[in-house]
Amino acid sequence: MPFSKLGLSEPILNAVTELGYTAPTPIQAEAIPLALKGKNLIAAAQTGSGKTATFVLPILEMLSKGETQKKKRARALILTPTRELALQVCKSIEAYGKHLGLKSVAIYGGVDYEPQKQALINGVDIVVATPGRLRDLYTQRAIHFDEIEILVLDEADRMLDMGFIEDITKIIDTLPEQRQNLLFSATLSRQVRELAKDTVANAIQLSFNKEGEGKPNIDQWLITVDKDKKSALLSHLINENNWQQALIFIETKHGAGKLVSQLEKRGIESECIHSGRTQAIREKILADFKAGNIKYLISTGVSARGIDIDVLPLVINYDLPFPADEYVHRIGRTGRAGASGEAISLVSRDDFKNLCMIERRLGHLITRKTIEGFEPSKEVPISVLNFEPKNKPVRGSNDEKSSAPSGKSKRESSSSRTKPNFESRSKKSDTSSNRSSKSSDSKKLPPNPWNV
Ligand code: AMP
Repeated sequence: MPFSKLGLSEPILNAVTELGYTAPTPIQAEAIPLALKGKNLIAAAQTGSGKTATFVLPILEMLSKGETQKKKRARALILTPTRELALQVCKSIEAYGKHLGLKSVAIYGGVDYEPQKQALINGVDIVVATPGRLRDLYTQRAIHFDEIEILVLDEADRMLDMGFIEDITKIIDTLPEQRQNLLFSATLSRQVRELAKDTVANAIQLSFNKEGEGKPNIDQWLITVDKDKKSALLSHLINENNWQQALIFIETKHGAGKLVSQLEKRGIESECIHSGRTQAIREKILADFKAGNIKYLISTGVSARGIDIDVLPLVINYDLPFPADEYVHRIGRTGRAGASGEAISLVSRDDFKNLCMIERRLGHLITRKTIEGFEPSKEVPISVLNFEPKNKPVRGSNDEKSSAPSGKSKRESSSSRTKPNFESRSKKSDTSSNRSSKSSDSKKLPPNPWNV
């Protein structure tokens, strides 16, 4: 189906053509006509599926009619988990709406209140915000929500993971009851469904994570290695492969800084972003990375959330994240919009519990390799795909989580210190290369994550 059949008007179609889009992605083809009819939607969709245009284009279409930029008012509200994603969505609004006179603003924490407050007071059409800062500005009476017509919850699962539930529900309580609701989430977990039940009544549910549809084309594999050899292995891989560009995920901000110096000692230039760096520096580094001026960017999970680069070929997990959905989000940074990508994880014995959760979530084992000279002395056992953990596995001391505004993430991080109860299926060494990704544990497997 061409874009012209979706019900969008000329100025929007022109903008999309100028961006080089030739046809809508599956989610756009199905969801845009429904959104234009005013339907409430709950869509399971990964980053990379084209979900931003899916909600931005109908919003622009609807807001292009009617009064614009009234003081202290907005007509559409998009809630996102991170400032980077808020900025990214605003950029998309500018690009898709370049032939319309609509105004948007990104509202997020970690920067001066005043410019954001002033923008809201002056009046905008679309507010793209992280929940905590928006609530602050609402209580300062910089904005009233009585004219909000459309609410978007973007990356709802991620917002819940970050402990934003209280801010989200408090904001939603102040919105007009008569409004359109669009919820997007990589996964439709129980918590997401609960949030949806309370906020998105009579919604049409769509899933774009079906096999082959919107599924990123990502070659995933892992290398087993001792923890203290990871930085040497990474340097070795960089030197051997001469990668054009890579985004390297690490759990802590301390680890990110340390890795930059370790690489530097081996003659490899890199940069890092994490919550300890100022917003201005993070934005500059992201812009440099996008422009190709930085080859290797080391990032904690939350910081990299909004990175959207058309041809990012490689994601490296220096540590494995928890929860497992975070792994899916991370590797979704590559293989976007139909391009192919590669995701490599460096896995030591310490990562085993998180590996179990990730492979369980994927529904299959990730292909393993060892690199000559870096064979692990501490084996990483093979995951038990249908094993039910009694306690949560260990979450790395993710520094970003501490900046979440509600208490939930604090509770999560304390519970993560409980002793995990995982077992290995095999006590045999796993150092054999290229282990098949299929396993005889296929009974009772969880659903394929691309198929939630
Ligand atoms: P998203 O899933 O919204 O993060 O989008 C991922 C990437 O796909 C972005 O770089 C978009 O510019 C791009 N994109 C979105 N829709 C299309 C389309 N119909 N054709 C080509 N690229 C697209």
